[in-house]
Amino acid sequence: MADYAMYHAMGEQQPAGNQNPQYQQQQPQQQSGNSQFRPPIAPSPSGYQQTGSPYAPQNPYASANTEAGAQAGYQQTPPPSAMQDQGYFPPAGGHTPVQGQDGMNNLSAQMGGMGLDGSGTVRKKRNRHAHHEIASQGSSQPFNGMQQSGGVQSGLSTPNQFTGQQVTPAMSQFPASVNPVYSPSPQTQNTGASVTPAQGRVDPEQIPSIARSRDAPAAYYLEHVFPTMENHVPPPASIPFVAFDQGNSSPKFARLTMTHIPSSAEALASIGLPLGLTLQPLAPLQEGENEIPVLDFGDVGPPRCRRCRAYMNPFMTFHNGGNKFVCNMCTFPNETSTEYFAPTDPTGVRVDRQQRPELTLGTVDFIVPKEYWTRPPVPLNWLFLIDVTEESVNKGFLDGFCEGVMSALYGGRNDSEEEEDDSTASKGKIPAGCKVGIVTYDKAMHFFNLSPKLDQAQMMVMPDIEDPFVPLNEGLFVDPHESRTVITQLLNQLPQMFNPDIMAGLKNPEPALLPALEAAAGALAATGGKIICSLAALPTWGRGRLFLRDDNTAVAGSDAEKRLLTTEHPAFTKLATKMVETGVGADFFLAAPSGGYLDIATIGHVSAKSGGEVFYYPNFHSPRDTLRLSKEIKHTVTRQTGYQALMKVRCSNGLQISGYHGNFTQHTFGADVEFGVIDQDKAIGVMFSYDGKLDPKLDAHFQSALLYTTASGERRVRCHNLVASVAESGGEAMKFVDQDAVVTIMAKEAASKLPEKSMKDVRSAITEKTVDILAGYRRNFSSTHPSGQLVIPENLKEFSMYMLSLIKSRAFKGGREPTDRRVHDLRMVRSMGPMELSLYLYPRIYSLHNLDDKDGFANENGHLSMPPSCRATFAKVQEGGAYLVDNGQICLLWLHSQVSPHLLEDLFGPGYNSLKSIDPFLNELPTLDTHLNAQTRNILQYLENVRGGKALSVQVARQGLDGAEYEFARLLFEDRNGEAQSYVDWLVHLHRCIQMELSGQRKKEDTASMKLSEWEGVVYQVFRYHEEKYSGDSIGHGVGVECTCFFG
Ligand SMILES: [Zn+2]
Repeated sequence: MADYAMYHAMGEQQPAGNQNPQYQQQQPQQQSGNSQFRPPIAPSPSGYQQTGSPYAPQNPYASANTEAGAQAGYQQTPPPSAMQDQGYFPPAGGHTPVQGQDGMNNLSAQMGGMGLDGSGTVRKKRNRHAHHEIASQGSSQPFNGMQQSGGVQSGLSTPNQFTGQQVTPAMSQFPASVNPVYSPSPQTQNTGASVTPAQGRVDPEQIPSIARSRDAPAAYYLEHVFPTMENHVPPPASIPFVAFDQGNSSPKFARLTMTHIPSSAEALASIGLPLGLTLQPLAPLQEGENEIPVLDFGDVGPPRCRRCRAYMNPFMTFHNGGNKFVCNMCTFPNETSTEYFAPTDPTGVRVDRQQRPELTLGTVDFIVPKEYWTRPPVPLNWLFLIDVTEESVNKGFLDGFCEGVMSALYGGRNDSEEEEDDSTASKGKIPAGCKVGIVTYDKAMHFFNLSPKLDQAQMMVMPDIEDPFVPLNEGLFVDPHESRTVITQLLNQLPQMFNPDIMAGLKNPEPALLPALEAAAGALAATGGKIICSLAALPTWGRGRLFLRDDNTAVAGSDAEKRLLTTEHPAFTKLATKMVETGVGADFFLAAPSGGYLDIATIGHVSAKSGGEVFYYPNFHSPRDTLRLSKEIKHTVTRQTGYQALMKVRCSNGLQISGYHGNFTQHTFGADVEFGVIDQDKAIGVMFSYDGKLDPKLDAHFQSALLYTTASGERRVRCHNLVASVAESGGEAMKFVDQDAVVTIMAKEAASKLPEKSMKDVRSAITEKTVDILAGYRRNFSSTHPSGQLVIPENLKEFSMYMLSLIKSRAFKGGREPTDRRVHDLRMVRSMGPMELSLYLYPRIYSLHNLDDKDGFANENGHLSMPPSCRATFAKVQEGGAYLVDNGQICLLWLHSQVSPHLLEDLFGPGYNSLKSIDPFLNELPTLDTHLNAQTRNILQYLENVRGGKALSVQVARQGLDGAEYEFARLLFEDRNGEAQSYVDWLVHLHRCIQMELSGQRKKEDTASMKLSEWEGVVYQVFRYHEEKYSGDSIGHGVGVECTCFFG
């Protein structure tokens, strides 16, 4: 338990820099630049030429060790064992430099023909796989499995930084010893063979922890780069990392559920895992990552396979001196066009390879010529469609929205002029050439002429909402900088203009949404573009008016509830289809200030089908929520956005696409996926099935191509390429599972089953699938374990918890849930990327009352030192504690009723020394001169930087005082909640189902809740074993097998 008197003392001994509490100014490492959270610096943007240079900063491991030690110091459980001291880093002064050297050589060998001297240290390879031939040209060689088993000497491979067991960071949540053979985790040591055997129960301390599974890799990837061709599972999606594209796309863009793919459908079925790919094609880059190159092949367009139309990529091979190239997808031998011809060197590598990003990088953008156009591309047009009805005005939503638009366009209402000339400020704003328009609506529509020639905006009222037209030829869409004065003036006036208290006789409380949307879509039909629409009440006026469908009487799980989760409104459906056709999409900002029903099922359908997003404020409160509103409008306008988009995924012969999951339009099965708009936060899932058998001698290839127009008006194709090995057995594939990809694919698939299936059936299906996967592992891979053990594969260690969270999430949970919230979350799950989903399914929780002095500040390398995160269970909540709980959607500051007055004053300022004194509508922390305040704001800044599309604003949840406490309880996913099980009970339940499956007694329906009492006598133990099947040069087969066992 923390000593609060001591805590306060800590607050007093602040660093001198604290007078200026802006974190940036506090950095002792000023030279490290503008961002204290900067990741390690990847090699320079010239890419492959640079691969020979050390890929990571030359941090002496001594300093890394210091950090490891510091990390250990944060552990709440005391004394770090010797093993923990070694932690994730080899002993100081070890063979690190040698590793680095070897890593370089190793990489150069992989990439082939890079002009690097890789002689001498290249390991021998088994010649089993045909793609060795390709390897010499810089391809998939490491996917042989060699890297994994031989990784001991590879400086580039992350595992040996962790342990000698070639454990990827994702797999290894324990700081393990360097001894590769048998290394019980510190956990195991702490707990011995069994946990509290006296009680005969599972010790919740010992079950796999998502919190721990994130912290260790997060610390590791602060100082290390993830090279994408290594034969390892990617880092956890929820943590920041710098990826270095070596020909395989970064996991930020694309993650396969497994990087070794079973050769047949039967082998895949035996392990129960889905074969799928998550794609977030415009995912944002992190500082330190190389920009995506934009390649222009002029009128002939990018080189492609003549048969399957795959785009040129690093895995196509050149023959006949460069005259032919063989497609890696369909193996068709193409003639190289004269424009694209370059001779090959004696090893078969094109001489110009190093100068050609499309031959060296997994992700590139191709500029495409006219034949890819449907019309001449122009910079994106934005139309703000603003609800000015009474509710919107009176509840402060209109005011907040106008402020948000100004913030998005100009940086804010007040900091006006000085930013005009600031050229750097243009970054993150609307790209040059983009135009904006403003239309407001209530029962009528009001168009605004924003021409810069005018003194002020001219309003044109369109009262005819039955057959609306756009009454403006010019001045509707304008350059936001040329018309800045007119626009800011208008946005400042709008809240008054439509205030019924000021403008007598103006009472139009009902919004006519559909006619307004149709007019907006019509105005954009010629060019394509994006609508940003606000709405603060159920649109009950005019054509397409909606009704209070959800009167809270529909029984959960009933057909009536199902109907509420979808729309049968033909006009909204038709509008969505039309918008996609014309390259238009819509983001909605929906507020229900009085907590009322909005029919998001119908309204949100428009954004779901057109590739947009819904930002929903269920109990909008001004001014608390205006901060978030403003930030989210700014984000939606400034994030990377493309429009008129079409996506296609190609894969190797033997596989075929069996389905797409996400928010998009697909006209027929097998057709390309269409988006009116697409942005950096949107992801889809792609499922594959077999139409034959894969050749284990070959690799499996995947390529996604997104044809889109950039916001700056360029028609491009963004290509992502992935390669995977083909595994002869399912068991081998199981070693290379990407947990985040599996979770994402399963969540998206589950969300797409609704509303056709009932909520209960979908929850059952999630449970079934979880059992299938764990039983599959048991059957294939760990039959040597006694049958009484629950065995969990190391790479899927937290998978069960994520699935439990999915069942408990708002999207899928049992019991009553307002259908607006339910359908909103369902659609979000369908479009979220793996990072946002991971946070949604398991929040990050940090305790503030016992922070180490160094937490929340930069370490010696200029990277933010984060405290360890806590498990999402009330059992971990300490009396008198203060916690930040962030799930990427909301961020709660939960305060225990006995929290120290000193802590409160340090956090909120003098005089705020009791829970009652704190403003419950606070949305950010004040800037104070205390150590704790600075630490907390820095941690919040980190959380804001590492999340998906939603903005961060703080919501206070004081124990016993605030309604937000319920949300806090809901986010404690490990606890029993409503009808859903606790984590421990869930594992016991899964264990029983697996046993029944293995003994052939499982009934598929048997997913009824299990009571822990039926499993009295369960004892539990964690151990890991290591399997070494390889020796000498014939490596590549045996891989360290990690698993966690529970003795049942
Ligand atoms: Zn082809």
